[in-house]
Amino acid sequence: MTRRVLVLPGDNIGSEIVTEAVKVLEAINLQFDLGVKLDYGLLGGAALNVAGNPCPQDTLDSARDADAILLGAVGGPQWDHFERRLRPESGLLRIRAELQLFANLRPAIMYPQLANASSLKPEIVAGLDILIVRELVGGIYFGEPRGIRTLENGEREGYNTYKYAESEIRRIGKVAFETAMVRDKRLCSVDKSNVLEATILWKEVISEMAADYPDVELSHLYVDNAAMQLVREPKQFDVLVTGNMFGDILSDTAAMLTGSIGMLPSASLDQFGGGMYEPCHGSAPDIAGQGVANPLATILSVAMMLRYSLGSPDSASTIEHAVSRVLDRGLRTADIQTAGTTRVGTAKMGDAVVAELQAAAALV
Ligand code: NAD
Repeated sequence: MTRRVLVLPGDNIGSEIVTEAVKVLEAINLQFDLGVKLDYGLLGGAALNVAGNPCPQDTLDSARDADAILLGAVGGPQWDHFERRLRPESGLLRIRAELQLFANLRPAIMYPQLANASSLKPEIVAGLDILIVRELVGGIYFGEPRGIRTLENGEREGYNTYKYAESEIRRIGKVAFETAMVRDKRLCSVDKSNVLEATILWKEVISEMAADYPDVELSHLYVDNAAMQLVREPKQFDVLVTGNMFGDILSDTAAMLTGSIGMLPSASLDQFGGGMYEPCHGSAPDIAGQGVANPLATILSVAMMLRYSLGSPDSASTIEHAVSRVLDRGLRTADIQTAGTTRVGTAKMGDAVVAELQAAAALV
């Protein structure tokens, strides 16, 4: 069976980290005979430069035909002066919306080897394993009306709309409850229902759904408290579910608990198991072209792709073990380097993961 994967390197460090993830995908494809065939496309600034559109129609067509999509990251100051609809980030929002990739799964797992790389004390983060389920195609990032207008008094006013329909809350709630069922059965829903009506409805709907999942212990937190609890005692959480903007912010906070945003993969899923897989971080223009970016978040995103969209959990675990063994060997990119470890660049890190995969295959 052929499995088609569309590769969208994106901008800045995007192509550097995706090159390493593709090396890993090709190695695991051979090892497990997965039948993966790669196609390439353009998204973000790279697409804007070539096609005048950050999300060209042929990219959307290829994405719809693919079984899964691997994305680097988009954006950068090169394109900041473009109007909003042409900005690389608009291309990313468009592909997420067009493919209805509504469920963004962002695991934050603390590798024991990296306990000293976290900005928090090792005892607070050791053994951390939480999952943030973020609604990805609704909320304030998509709500209309939006814009910047001039008021009668001549002053400019920026405005956005925060809204969620009940059906949107139910479909992300279902993913969150079902994910909690196969983990530690604890779900925390994050809202701001003391201030925002849209999240009063969010809380009501999630609470109603709890009746269908009696084994899941449901709790609720306001987003400000959730942010505080994430840095105070992150291990109290198992699964968190929240809207688009709160999830964006909380998942970056969770990322830092694990040592570096360069370690965090993500999956953005549709209703049918298709998905787009990308690191949680952006295109890091500050380090682009230097060969120092950490490719592990993107490599771990390949593992999520194999597990969630390509039906090969064994090959996913094999990649995760290979990453762990590379960390055991003390290899570190700059963002996760601590005393006594060996600094490597992006390509060497990718090569090391491939070498571990090959070593593991040779033992079988
Ligand atoms: P960023 O995540 O790109 O970078 C934040 C910091 O983390 C930087 O210091 C960067 O060097 C570091 N960093 C990020 N990834 C790293 C990696 N793999 N290895 C080592 N260090 C890493 O966030 P930003 O600077 O706010 O945004 C830069 C651009 O990326 C912006 O144009 C933004 O809109 C875009 N962005 C894109 C996505 C996406 O494509 N999904 C997500 C977030 C931001």
